[in-house]
Amino acid sequence: MPEAPQEKVDDHARRLTALQGYTALVLNADWQPLSYLPLSVWSWQDAVKAAWQERVHVVSSYDVRVHSASASFAIPSVVVLRNYERRGTDKAPKFSKRLMMLRDNYCCQYCKGAFPSSMLTCDHVVPKASGGASTWENTVCACTACNEKKASLLPSQLKAVGMRLPQPRAPSAHQLEAAAWGLCLRDLQRKTHVHESWKLHIGAVDDATVERAAHEDARYDVTPRKMRQRDRSVAYSG
Ligand SMILES: [Zn+2]
Repeated sequence: MPEAPQEKVDDHARRLTALQGYTALVLNADWQPLSYLPLSVWSWQDAVKAAWQERVHVVSSYDVRVHSASASFAIPSVVVLRNYERRGTDKAPKFSKRLMMLRDNYCCQYCKGAFPSSMLTCDHVVPKASGGASTWENTVCACTACNEKKASLLPSQLKAVGMRLPQPRAPSAHQLEAAAWGLCLRDLQRKTHVHESWKLHIGAVDDATVERAAHEDARYDVTPRKMRQRDRSVAYSG
Protein backbone atom coordinates (compact mmCIF):
# COMPACT_ATOMS: atom_id res chain seq x y z
CA MET A 1 0.00 0.00 0.00
CA PRO A 2 1.56 3.37 -0.96
CA GLU A 3 2.55 5.67 1.91
CA ALA A 4 0.05 8.47 2.56
CA PRO A 5 1.52 11.92 1.63
CA GLN A 6 1.07 13.24 5.17
CA GLU A 7 3.13 10.36 6.57
CA LYS A 8 5.88 11.14 4.06
CA VAL A 9 5.91 14.77 5.19
CA ASP A 10 6.01 13.72 8.85
CA ASP A 11 8.86 11.31 8.16
CA HIS A 12 10.81 14.02 6.39
CA ALA A 13 10.22 16.46 9.25
CA ARG A 14 11.33 13.86 11.80
CA ARG A 15 14.51 13.18 9.87
CA LEU A 16 15.28 16.89 9.57
CA THR A 17 14.79 17.32 13.32
CA ALA A 18 17.08 14.35 14.02
CA LEU A 19 19.80 15.96 11.88
CA GLN A 20 19.75 19.25 13.80
CA GLY A 21 22.34 17.98 16.28
CA TYR A 22 24.89 17.36 13.55
CA THR A 23 26.53 20.74 13.61
CA ALA A 24 29.97 21.43 12.19
CA LEU A 25 32.77 23.10 14.11
CA VAL A 26 34.10 25.95 11.96
CA LEU A 27 37.83 26.65 11.97
CA ASN A 28 39.49 29.68 10.47
CA ALA A 29 42.14 29.19 7.82
CA ASP A 30 44.72 29.09 10.66
CA TRP A 31 42.90 26.06 12.10
CA GLN A 32 41.77 27.91 15.22
CA PRO A 33 38.02 28.04 15.94
CA LEU A 34 36.56 31.13 14.33
CA SER A 35 35.20 32.13 17.75
CA TYR A 36 34.80 30.67 21.23
CA LEU A 37 31.94 32.74 22.54
CA PRO A 38 29.81 31.42 21.12
CA LEU A 39 31.73 28.51 19.71
CA SER A 40 31.72 28.82 15.94
CA VAL A 41 29.44 26.11 14.61
CA TRP A 42 27.30 25.82 11.51
CA SER A 43 24.16 23.84 10.88
CA TRP A 44 24.67 20.75 8.74
CA GLN A 45 22.89 22.56 5.88
CA ASP A 46 25.36 25.47 5.95
CA ALA A 47 28.33 23.12 6.27
CA VAL A 48 27.24 20.94 3.35
CA LYS A 49 26.51 24.02 1.24
CA ALA A 50 29.92 25.58 2.01
CA ALA A 51 31.68 22.32 1.17
CA TRP A 52 29.72 22.05 -2.07
CA GLN A 53 30.69 25.62 -2.96
CA GLU A 54 34.32 24.84 -2.05
CA ARG A 55 34.46 27.65 0.53
CA VAL A 56 35.76 25.18 3.14
CA HIS A 57 37.86 22.07 3.40
CA VAL A 58 36.10 19.24 5.20
CA VAL A 59 38.43 18.01 7.95
CA SER A 60 36.21 15.25 9.27
CA SER A 61 32.64 14.04 8.90
CA TYR A 62 29.91 12.34 10.84
CA ASP A 63 28.96 8.82 10.02
CA VAL A 64 25.68 10.16 8.65
CA ARG A 65 24.84 11.01 5.07
CA VAL A 66 22.29 13.25 3.44
CA HIS A 67 21.07 12.79 -0.09
CA SER A 68 20.02 15.12 -2.86
CA ALA A 69 18.34 13.95 -6.03
CA SER A 70 21.69 13.16 -7.63
CA ALA A 71 24.32 12.99 -4.92
CA SER A 72 25.06 11.89 -1.37
CA PHE A 73 27.12 13.81 1.21
CA ALA A 74 28.60 12.85 4.56
CA ILE A 75 27.68 15.61 7.04
CA PRO A 76 30.89 17.48 7.96
CA SER A 77 31.79 17.58 11.66
CA VAL A 78 34.78 19.94 11.28
CA VAL A 79 35.40 22.35 8.43
CA VAL A 80 38.19 24.86 7.87
CA LEU A 81 37.70 28.07 5.90
CA ARG A 82 39.74 28.35 2.73
CA ASN A 83 40.13 32.10 3.20
CA TYR A 84 41.28 33.60 6.49
CA GLU A 85 38.56 35.58 8.20
CA ARG A 86 39.57 38.49 10.41
CA ARG A 87 38.93 37.45 13.98
CA GLY A 88 37.76 39.23 17.12
CA THR A 89 41.28 39.15 18.59
CA ASP A 90 42.47 41.47 15.83
CA LYS A 91 40.40 44.33 17.31
CA ALA A 92 40.10 45.99 20.73
CA PRO A 93 37.08 44.48 22.51
CA LYS A 94 34.04 46.69 22.77
CA PHE A 95 32.42 46.89 26.17
CA SER A 96 29.33 44.77 26.79
CA LYS A 97 27.86 43.43 30.00
CA ARG A 98 28.30 39.88 28.76
CA LEU A 99 32.00 40.38 27.97
CA MET A 100 32.49 42.19 31.28
CA MET A 101 31.19 39.06 33.06
CA LEU A 102 33.58 36.98 30.99
CA ARG A 103 36.47 39.32 31.86
CA ASP A 104 35.67 38.83 35.56
CA ASN A 105 35.33 35.08 35.04
CA TYR A 106 31.80 35.17 36.49
CA CYS A 107 33.20 36.00 39.94
CA CYS A 108 32.00 38.80 42.18
CA GLN A 109 34.89 41.24 42.29
CA TYR A 110 34.08 42.27 45.87
CA CYS A 111 33.83 38.89 47.64
CA LYS A 112 35.57 36.86 44.89
CA GLY A 113 32.79 34.27 44.93
CA ALA A 114 31.84 32.42 41.72
CA PHE A 115 28.15 32.60 40.84
CA PRO A 116 25.89 31.61 37.95
CA SER A 117 25.32 34.59 35.68
CA SER A 118 21.69 34.85 36.83
CA MET A 119 22.98 35.77 40.30
CA LEU A 120 25.46 38.37 39.12
CA THR A 121 24.85 42.01 38.38
CA CYS A 122 26.77 44.64 36.52
CA ASP A 123 27.96 46.96 39.27
CA HIS A 124 28.94 50.53 38.42
CA VAL A 125 32.03 51.40 40.47
CA VAL A 126 31.12 55.07 40.36
CA PRO A 127 27.32 54.73 40.49
CA LYS A 128 25.31 55.80 37.47
CA ALA A 129 23.52 58.35 39.65
CA SER A 130 26.91 59.97 40.32
CA GLY A 131 27.76 60.11 36.65
CA GLY A 132 29.46 56.71 36.34
CA ALA A 133 29.54 55.36 32.82
CA SER A 134 29.10 51.83 31.50
CA THR A 135 32.72 51.24 30.54
CA TRP A 136 35.33 48.56 31.14
CA GLU A 137 36.98 50.74 33.78
CA ASN A 138 33.77 51.53 35.68
CA THR A 139 31.96 48.20 35.84
CA VAL A 140 32.53 44.91 37.59
CA CYS A 141 30.68 41.69 38.24
CA ALA A 142 29.03 41.74 41.66
CA CYS A 143 26.87 39.21 43.49
CA THR A 144 23.51 40.45 44.69
CA ALA A 145 24.62 40.67 48.32
CA CYS A 146 27.74 42.72 47.55
CA ASN A 147 25.81 44.87 45.10
CA GLU A 148 23.27 45.71 47.81
CA LYS A 149 25.98 46.33 50.39
CA LYS A 150 27.91 48.59 48.08
CA ALA A 151 24.75 50.46 47.07
CA SER A 152 25.59 54.01 45.99
CA LEU A 153 28.97 54.27 47.72
CA LEU A 154 31.87 55.82 45.85
CA PRO A 155 35.18 53.90 45.56
CA SER A 156 36.71 56.11 48.27
CA GLN A 157 33.96 55.07 50.70
CA LEU A 158 34.32 51.30 50.27
CA LYS A 159 36.99 50.81 52.91
CA ALA A 160 34.69 52.18 55.60
CA VAL A 161 32.24 49.32 55.02
CA GLY A 162 34.95 46.66 54.76
CA MET A 163 34.88 46.32 50.98
CA ARG A 164 37.69 46.56 48.50
CA LEU A 165 37.91 46.44 44.75
CA PRO A 166 40.86 46.22 42.36
CA GLN A 167 40.72 48.87 39.65
CA PRO A 168 38.87 47.25 36.72
CA ARG A 169 40.56 47.52 33.35
CA ALA A 170 39.75 46.94 29.73
CA PRO A 171 40.76 43.37 28.84
CA SER A 172 42.74 42.55 25.74
CA ALA A 173 41.06 40.47 23.08
CA HIS A 174 43.49 37.67 23.93
CA GLN A 175 42.44 37.70 27.57
CA LEU A 176 38.79 37.46 26.57
CA GLU A 177 39.55 34.70 24.13
CA ALA A 178 41.42 32.73 26.78
CA ALA A 179 38.53 33.18 29.22
CA ALA A 180 36.02 32.17 26.56
CA TRP A 181 38.10 29.13 25.74
CA GLY A 182 37.97 28.05 29.40
CA LEU A 183 34.18 28.53 29.45
CA CYS A 184 33.82 26.68 26.21
CA LEU A 185 35.65 23.65 27.61
CA ARG A 186 33.49 23.64 30.73
CA ASP A 187 30.40 23.85 28.56
CA LEU A 188 31.56 21.00 26.35
CA GLN A 189 32.24 18.83 29.37
CA ARG A 190 28.57 19.02 30.26
CA LYS A 191 27.45 17.94 26.81
CA THR A 192 27.41 14.35 25.71
CA HIS A 193 26.92 14.79 21.98
CA VAL A 194 30.19 16.55 21.20
CA HIS A 195 31.91 14.75 18.39
CA GLU A 196 35.38 13.41 19.09
CA SER A 197 36.69 15.23 16.04
CA TRP A 198 35.97 18.62 17.71
CA LYS A 199 38.08 18.05 20.77
CA LEU A 200 41.43 18.20 19.07
CA HIS A 201 40.61 21.58 17.54
CA ILE A 202 38.94 23.20 20.53
CA GLY A 203 42.00 22.40 22.59
CA ALA A 204 44.11 24.03 19.96
CA VAL A 205 44.36 27.57 21.34
CA ASP A 206 47.97 28.24 20.54
CA ASP A 207 50.46 28.65 23.34
CA ALA A 208 51.21 32.23 22.29
CA THR A 209 47.59 33.22 23.01
CA VAL A 210 47.73 31.56 26.43
CA GLU A 211 50.99 33.31 27.28
CA ARG A 212 49.72 36.70 26.13
CA ALA A 213 46.52 36.27 28.12
CA ALA A 214 48.40 35.30 31.25
CA HIS A 215 51.02 38.02 31.09
CA GLU A 216 49.34 41.01 29.51
CA ASP A 217 48.14 42.15 32.88
CA ALA A 218 49.31 40.14 35.85
CA ARG A 219 47.70 42.60 38.27
CA TYR A 220 44.27 41.99 36.89
CA ASP A 221 44.37 38.34 36.03
CA VAL A 222 41.20 37.13 34.34
CA THR A 223 42.66 33.87 33.07
CA PRO A 224 40.77 30.84 34.43
CA ARG A 225 42.79 28.94 36.99
CA LYS A 226 42.55 25.77 34.92
CA MET A 227 44.21 27.55 32.03
CA ARG A 228 46.93 29.06 34.20
CA GLN A 229 47.84 25.53 35.25
CA ARG A 230 47.82 24.59 31.57
CA ASP A 231 46.11 21.35 32.59
CA ARG A 232 44.27 20.64 29.40
CA SER A 233 44.13 16.88 29.81
CA VAL A 234 41.66 17.26 32.70
CA ALA A 235 39.24 19.09 30.49
CA TYR A 236 38.79 16.16 28.19
CA SER A 237 38.65 13.29 30.65
CA GLY A 238 35.45 11.28 31.06
ZN1 LIG B 1 30.01 39.25 46.30
